Amino acid sequence: MATPTESDKRLLQVIVTLTEDSQGRPPTLAEIAMAIGYPSSSRGNVQRQLTRLRPTYVDWMDGPRSLRVTPSGLALLSIKPLEENIDLPLPEAILCLLASGLTYLTNDIAEGKPLHVPFSQAWQRGVNILTAECLLRDVDPPMHLHAALAWCRRPLGEWPVHFRIPPMWLNEALLDKDDQPTSLCREYALTKCDAELETCQNTMLKVLSEAKKNRAPHAYVAFRQFLIEHPVVTDDELMKCSFDAQIGTLGSYLTDLYERVPTLVVEQGKVLLCGFCGWTLQRSHGRLHCGDDRCRILTGDFIHCVIRELRTAPEHLQRVRRAIRRYVVAPGIYEIKTAQCLDTLGITAELWPGYDAYDIRIVFPDRTVWAVDVKDWRFPHLLASHLTPLECHGNLTWDRALYVIPNQRVQEMPGYLDILRNATSEQAFSILTINDLIEEARRYKEQCHA
Ligand SMILES: [Zn+2]
Repeated sequence: MATPTESDKRLLQVIVTLTEDSQGRPPTLAEIAMAIGYPSSSRGNVQRQLTRLRPTYVDWMDGPRSLRVTPSGLALLSIKPLEENIDLPLPEAILCLLASGLTYLTNDIAEGKPLHVPFSQAWQRGVNILTAECLLRDVDPPMHLHAALAWCRRPLGEWPVHFRIPPMWLNEALLDKDDQPTSLCREYALTKCDAELETCQNTMLKVLSEAKKNRAPHAYVAFRQFLIEHPVVTDDELMKCSFDAQIGTLGSYLTDLYERVPTLVVEQGKVLLCGFCGWTLQRSHGRLHCGDDRCRILTGDFIHCVIRELRTAPEHLQRVRRAIRRYVVAPGIYEIKTAQCLDTLGITAELWPGYDAYDIRIVFPDRTVWAVDVKDWRFPHLLASHLTPLECHGNLTWDRALYVIPNQRVQEMPGYLDILRNATSEQAFSILTINDLIEEARRYKEQCHA
């Protein structure tokens, strides 16, 4: 890019000053505009100027308040970060970029593609910033892809640089022993962008828009429910369902979301299915593996939860794609079970109303409506920014909005709900466990009849 002008330098200086003034919290565009003396409405101009300076002198992530002046930007302002910043933690944004990049890389590995440049933009930027920050601290940066991947396999607490992150993550790595992204990695990637999610979302978005075009909300619900309840099917079942009257024209998308079951998973003529999500189990190093490690925890190493066995030959079997298992089936199990639970209590629970505006719409006998979204994340700190107000208009209006978390997640981490509630305290929704939701709904219904 061209040499920065005096106006560019002034802009960078304003960002540095505002960040320092608020103890390291980066400013918003409106705050910058006002500090320069423009009306806050001129943040578009500020953004254009910043875009020109990115990524050499300034950089940011998708979320608000992630703007930061880079080491080159600081050098331009003759601020010498070297001495005093040597022990300062690195910005968390680097981890989001690396995590997002890793989901693309591991996807390519799974599809058998060779690894070569150009890598995804997120990976490249993550590694570039990491390298710059390492050099600034006199630490040897990872010099090539395999060195960077080796860092990603180590717990964050063992990296030669440290990050501004909650201490409980220091024992977590970004890649697991099988070179699959860990929960930490996936949840970081979700705050940025995720290759798996992108592929999966594209097809699901097509299904959604086709359902809207046909004004067929029930077809959309039937489609989604089929995926969740049939993670592994025979060719015949899949064929039959793709012509199912309830699913209608959406049926043609169904086959895109399934893949042939690989022969690798067959053991003594049988295909073993996960006791939690129902996907195929594969043995490696003597241990069974599902799509990710969550199922191992929920099923006590696939012992406590009954494993199903299929004797159908794999050449007649299809399974949902890995991304669908992760992003539709696994969370969907909680959504469907919660709705079924409410149903047995005699409470009306509609799944994915308004083309998936939220997960469950509960309607009580007095016509009070609760809108519920289920969130199954391991790390509440990363989930917090994804809790936004639930849609409330037309047929979707509600009297109470709730985010609910699977009980086990809350039991696994002390203070899980407190962390979420503190981070979203000004928002108009409650946060409960799924069990507490069902209990509160049961009590509310009794009150209606009292
Ligand atoms: Zn599973």
